[in-house]
Amino acid sequence: MFLDSENKTECFGCESCVQICPKKALKMAEDEEGFRYPVVDSTLCNGCMLCRKACPFSEMPEKHGNIYTFGGYNSDKKTRFESTSGGAFSAIVEAFCDENYVVFGAESDGLKVFHNCIFDKKDLGKFRKSKYSQSVIGDSYIKVRNYLKEGKKVLFSGTPCQISGLKSFLKNVETQNLLTVEVVCEGVPSPLYINKMEQSFEKKYGGKIEELDYRYTGKSIFSSGKWDFEGMRIKFNSKSSKEIVRDRWFNPFWSVWLQHLMSRPSCYKCLFATNERTADITLGDLWGVHLYCPELYGKNGGSSLVFCNTAKGKEVFDTASKYMSGHELKFEDALKYQSPMRKTIDENPQRDSFMKDLMSDMSYREINKKWAKRPTLKLLYQKYVWGNRQKIFLWNLKKSLTKGRSNA
Ligand SMILES: Cc1cc2nc3c(=O)[nH]c(=O)nc-3n(C[C@H](O)[C@H](O)[C@H](O)COP(=O)(O)OP(=O)(O)OC[C@H]3O[C@@H](n4cnc5c(N)ncnc54)[C@H](O)[C@@H]3O)c2cc1C
Repeated sequence: MFLDSENKTECFGCESCVQICPKKALKMAEDEEGFRYPVVDSTLCNGCMLCRKACPFSEMPEKHGNIYTFGGYNSDKKTRFESTSGGAFSAIVEAFCDENYVVFGAESDGLKVFHNCIFDKKDLGKFRKSKYSQSVIGDSYIKVRNYLKEGKKVLFSGTPCQISGLKSFLKNVETQNLLTVEVVCEGVPSPLYINKMEQSFEKKYGGKIEELDYRYTGKSIFSSGKWDFEGMRIKFNSKSSKEIVRDRWFNPFWSVWLQHLMSRPSCYKCLFATNERTADITLGDLWGVHLYCPELYGKNGGSSLVFCNTAKGKEVFDTASKYMSGHELKFEDALKYQSPMRKTIDENPQRDSFMKDLMSDMSYREINKKWAKRPTLKLLYQKYVWGNRQKIFLWNLKKSLTKGRSNA
């Protein structure tokens, strides 16, 4: 799909076509909603069609059924704290990267998100934490190809569509030394909204945003220091190094995004919203943990769900699991709480009206006032009074009482 085509649902923005072009006739350009699409310079194009062949929509890379499912968390507390879910990604890097390796992942500079690579595990921190916007792939696939040709072990992590883009790009390359790790994904928000958010905060707090943690688990008045109850932390590079934390349930970003008003068009038709996967390993949050495996709640420091989809993925994860506490889960149980692996998100019928407002000169504040919803009393009751955390607490109490009785 190219920017001149009407059907934007058929472009994930994986950038495979741009990177494969021998004439550099393609580049990515933003459309009016802020999403990036390839544009062709017809004066440079020689009509070789390599771009079409490298597009996952022309030929979708092979998908694999589940062979092993695991729930648990990284045994190293610090790693868990610095990760989004249970730190499974770090355990996998630890297991795969022994020597002559390179790791690719999404890094951020303020609110800008882009793919990069590291050659030393000690730099892994920059890839930890979910950045909830589409990362710019740049020339990462070209680099992967070159490193594989040099004989390096390559770990590439990203969203499912980025993994499919990479695999389409590498069609004729030997990939024995490549391990692909994807995150469960339910879409990416409009960069236009993220830009307005950035401008609004920078104006209000008088500094450039240096760091944004969408799922901050440190303790503050607006975040409980718990994995399923995080705040959003924003750090500014103003003289005072100001830092603010926004409450999770009153944060308009989450409300607007999760109403599916501003996702990339292809996300509503996502071809990866299925239990068959493209990557060797799929990572997510262990949602539903309080309902089917409360022993894996891990004192609420974060818990990961890991799906191994290929023999290679399983082999690496067998070693990775040594750095984790947890156990095997039934695939069907895990799938019940992972809707992005069962169905695509529904496009909000009001998306067009929302986008019109977003593209107008309405401010971030005005947009949120009109579109963000306040949390329901039921939700607030569940989060602040009686919810998963309290249920787990009771479960633990019952367990220790039963243990006490049977020991007596
Ligand atoms: C846009 C997005 C949507 C997600 N939606 C869901 C969901 O609906 N349900 C669910 O269970 N899990 C979802 N996840 C996955 C989840 O948030 C965690 O990333 C995952 O469980 C890994 O956590 P960890 O503790 O093992 O790793 P961490 O150490 O926190 O690792 C983060 C990993 O995510 C990758 N990553 C971070 N940001 C991006 C990005 N913008 N683009 C591509 N890759 C990125 C990094 O490269 C790294 O591999 C989503 C992640 C992203 C980025």
